[in-house]
Amino acid sequence: MAFEAELRAALDAVQKASALCDAVQQRLVAGASLQKGDRSPVTVADFGAQAVVSHLLAQAFPGDPLVGEEDADALRASSNDDMRTKVVEGVHTLLPELSEDAILGAIDRGTYEGGATGRHWVLDPIDGTKGFLRLEQYAVALGLVVDGEVVLGVLGCPNLPHDAAAPSGPRGSLFWGVQGQGAHHRPLADRTIYSVSVTALDDPAGARFCESVESAHSNQSESARIAADLGITKPPYRIDSQCKYAAVARGDADVYLRLPTRKDYVEKVWDHAAGFRVVTEAGGRVTDVHGQPLDFSLGRRLETNSGVIVTNGRLHDRVLASVQRILGEGSGG
Ligand code: AMP
Ligand code: MG
Repeated sequence: MAFEAELRAALDAVQKASALCDAVQQRLVAGASLQKGDRSPVTVADFGAQAVVSHLLAQAFPGDPLVGEEDADALRASSNDDMRTKVVEGVHTLLPELSEDAILGAIDRGTYEGGATGRHWVLDPIDGTKGFLRLEQYAVALGLVVDGEVVLGVLGCPNLPHDAAAPSGPRGSLFWGVQGQGAHHRPLADRTIYSVSVTALDDPAGARFCESVESAHSNQSESARIAADLGITKPPYRIDSQCKYAAVARGDADVYLRLPTRKDYVEKVWDHAAGFRVVTEAGGRVTDVHGQPLDFSLGRRLETNSGVIVTNGRLHDRVLASVQRILGEGSGG
């Protein structure tokens, strides 16, 4: 089967990084985050997870570069000695043989520019850092891009309930999709594999849609107008991170709306690569708000896209028409 070795390595890396993140989240205390230039919180777990995934991928596929969200610049600063020590301690629980230099070097492998030719991996070590810090949902998201196309995606969702209807039940799953091979998931705690598929809902009025918890990441007033336009009566399912892609992939929701909050924001490839492949293999469809496919061939950002619309496929054209109607009205067009 194509990409068998890549999938095995990616599942192992995401499983280990998810364990590291989970351990850090359980012990999360004030002061465990610092502010990056863009003011998004970065935690010990972001750096630790990137180090673990990067190191394991470099061992398995030494020639493959990595586009990762983090770099080690802030960690090398002497003002962050305490943070650096905690990152090293966290990584040592999984990879005790790595020196501090090797850990910082592994994080810095993530500075690759990406692009349209050859192979590279795309990693968000903790997607949904704000959810992570609220002790809610986040994802470790890893994709493999070959000649500009995402061919494989793995999502580690350590806090996601196995059954959305039983939020206090068992938690933690891995989701994955390989191009042409369908989507699957298994609990982080055991090895039983299940296949994953989107809902068969045809009537937009019955849809449940998900969106960001953070109103700065997706325009929630426009999504409410789109929902009303489609006759949707269920309240939005607000959940952080690419867990939204997993939610549509396994049928907890039928639609995921990510509507631009400002004209100049360009989506990052690591926020979508893994989720895109998982939900597509589960039978879903992904475009931007203009109906264009996401173009992962342009580097670290989705330069030509605006927002993201994900559906179970059957609802896509009608949801997109409504999005265009409402966004068009909003801009006076
Ligand atoms: P979510 O958990 O779906 O709200 O998405 C988290 C991701 O939103 C982070 O990883 C950021 O890269 C991304 N993000 C930050 N600012 C914005 C913005 N203004 N619009 C859309 N996404 C953003
Ligand atoms: Mg992210």
